[in-house]
Amino acid sequence: MTSRNKHQSGARLPLRIDPDALADSGRILGGRAQWVDLGRLEYCGVRGVSPDVEVRFRAYREPGGAVLIAGDVTAEIAVTCQRCLGELVLPVGAELLVAVARSQREAVRLQEDYETIELDRGAQLSLAGLIEDELLLAVPLVPKHEDRRQCDAEALARLEALGNAAPRRESPFQVLEALRKNER
Ligand SMILES: [Zn+2]
Repeated sequence: MTSRNKHQSGARLPLRIDPDALADSGRILGGRAQWVDLGRLEYCGVRGVSPDVEVRFRAYREPGGAVLIAGDVTAEIAVTCQRCLGELVLPVGAELLVAVARSQREAVRLQEDYETIELDRGAQLSLAGLIEDELLLAVPLVPKHEDRRQCDAEALARLEALGNAAPRRESPFQVLEALRKNER
């Protein structure tokens, strides 16, 4: 929070933006988001590998006047491989396009064509939330090293020995999945 920090990269992104102002300015918002500002990822078991997240956003209006936010998010993340429980690094290069609806009625219209975020009139949009969403969407449902040979061989052997010795039980991931289903 020192003034030195402010000048370091020169391009630390704002965490919240006014979508209407961004659309009307025609400006492209580019820069780096810091992992520390994307706390939901850690909570979801996603770790940041690249020094930060590179993002670029622009906003424009669709024919009906609503603001569309288009952008791309580039980073390297790591999740736990569900086969060997080792670290699996995933490069992410994701493009996003979301519409900002300012009323429920507008949301219904926009949802036909776009992923839509509903915001009260005048409310700001959380860029951090958008970035978190994109990175979470990039994680496969069951992340695994693509090839078994990429897995941690020792851990794999240990896990398989455990699996053969113990009576078959639900994995913690299945339990989590069941909990998630119940929540909906
Ligand atoms: Zn693995």
